Amino acid sequence: MVFYNVHTHRLRSHEVAIVQAVDAPLNQFHSSGIHPWFADSALLPALEIALEHPACKALGEVGLDRLKGPSMEIQQSVLEEQLCLAAKHHKPVIFHIVQAWEAFYALQNAHQVTPWILHGFNQPKQFPRLLETPVYLSIGPSALSNPAMHPLLTKIPLKRLLLETDDKDEEIQWVYQRFCSLAGFDLAVLSQQIEQNFLAIFGP
Ligand SMILES: [Zn+2]
Repeated sequence: MVFYNVHTHRLRSHEVAIVQAVDAPLNQFHSSGIHPWFADSALLPALEIALEHPACKALGEVGLDRLKGPSMEIQQSVLEEQLCLAAKHHKPVIFHIVQAWEAFYALQNAHQVTPWILHGFNQPKQFPRLLETPVYLSIGPSALSNPAMHPLLTKIPLKRLLLETDDKDEEIQWVYQRFCSLAGFDLAVLSQQIEQNFLAIFGP
């Protein structure tokens, strides 16, 4: 069985992973992006070069964070520039969104041309609205340890489900198994679906 990890900061064996670039060895599948905490338009030229690397599979993690980082105006303008680069270079986008949902939905209407992945999805209140958008939802250890998320796990459309470890200690195998036990899924069925989703976004 092959395990797919859509967002991690550590490369481990026994998984196919999109590793955050600063933590990735050369030629490992990775994502490159300007994190909202460090939003700065001076970083954009280097990012565009990084996106051209053949092992760079996604723009990310990028987004908006009302609790940390520079002003929302700066975060928003750096994010919009990055979304234009993602469109130009045909890269899926991995998002980090904290308390900036209206801005996220507005950007989605204006900018989405490639697959968008909401990483670390753990916001039950946003779930009904997110279901109306074409975004992929990636579940990791934080959501699996949040009881308020558990009733939603079976309601995520299977074609839009991804799994991740982010910066946590748990292995991706644990995420798969925990998801199955909470949602009452069969591991073989889940893993087949995650594989299909991953390959639909990133290619073989
Ligand atoms: Zn992360």
